[in-house]
Amino acid sequence: MRTPVHRRAVVTGGAGFLGSYLCERLLERGAEVICMDNFLTGSPDNVAHLMGRPAFRLVECDLTEFVHVSGDVDLVLHFASAASPVDYLRHPIETLKVGSLGTLHALGLAKEKGARFVLASTSEVYGDPLEHPQREEYWGNVNPVGPRSVYDEAKRFAESLTTAYRNSRGVDTAIVRIFNTYGPRMRPHDGRAIPTFIRQALAGEPITVAGDGGQTRSVCYVTDTVEGILALAGSDFTGPVNIGNPAELSMLELAKTIRDLTGSSSPIKFVERPADDPAVRRPDTSLAAERLGWRPTVDVIDGLRRTIGWFTEKLREPEPLARR
Ligand code: NAD
Repeated sequence: MRTPVHRRAVVTGGAGFLGSYLCERLLERGAEVICMDNFLTGSPDNVAHLMGRPAFRLVECDLTEFVHVSGDVDLVLHFASAASPVDYLRHPIETLKVGSLGTLHALGLAKEKGARFVLASTSEVYGDPLEHPQREEYWGNVNPVGPRSVYDEAKRFAESLTTAYRNSRGVDTAIVRIFNTYGPRMRPHDGRAIPTFIRQALAGEPITVAGDGGQTRSVCYVTDTVEGILALAGSDFTGPVNIGNPAELSMLELAKTIRDLTGSSSPIKFVERPADDPAVRRPDTSLAAERLGWRPTVDVIDGLRRTIGWFTEKLREPEPLARR
């Protein structure tokens, strides 16, 4: 492993959920950070607490257009992309464009600056997996014309483009396949299971579980995911590498756990399962442990308690956050 000292980093999608934590951690480590975002699904609110710092700069720009950064850059973390199903189904073309053209531009920036480049890929490249748990060698089972393909295929293309830039342009690239991550700063209405369940439980509304709730997910607390990403950034490993928490839960178990932790008496309401919704999802994280020395450390109950605490505070605030 290389010593992770980056002096000047660009974080695309830096005003989003994961991006804002990455900006924060990089600043704590003494880096200068340029956060680039078009606020499609993120918000300046997520980085408002960083705005006064001389080492932080927020640039409003669309990665699908030409991007330029003056001066040296030694790390590009490419995180721009809608990530929740509600968001990418609302913005299908934007999602395909940022995964393709946006990745092209972010790679071009890394090439021009001689910077290390990390692509935020996803467990969704495994689609509805026929192998369980998912190892990095697995090629996936994705429907290229299904509704989710706008996200899954954009990320698969982005992985291919990243690999081509490494092999034929000599860019120092890495690919991280992130599994479902949760924590404070998620939007209550972003449609992902954890914010939805917490919001519904806190409001005493029915908790909407898709299908019979038997489908599984493995959820990772945000600080663990961010440490894994930065461990990859600071290494010379190319990946792809899974970053996620192997603790697997059914959606029904997750809904009941959140109900218990909030002390809510919300009923569970079963709703229609979305098309191509994966039946199972669990990372094999042995490669991350071996190559990056990384393991998740936050237990799911503890992570959910912290997240519920944050949502409880935020949902008391006046609009517009409560609606976002
Ligand atoms: P998010 O929606 O909170 O953040 C994405 C950010 O990208 C937003 O701030 C958005 O405004 C910005 N963006 C989108 N299109 C852009 C464009 N064309 N130009 C500039 N900025 C643009 O989502 P997130 O959960 O923080 O996810 C961040 C990245 O991590 C995404 O690439 C996502 O695919 C990946 N990822 C996240 C998870 C997860 O569980 N959160 C899992 C797997 C992969």
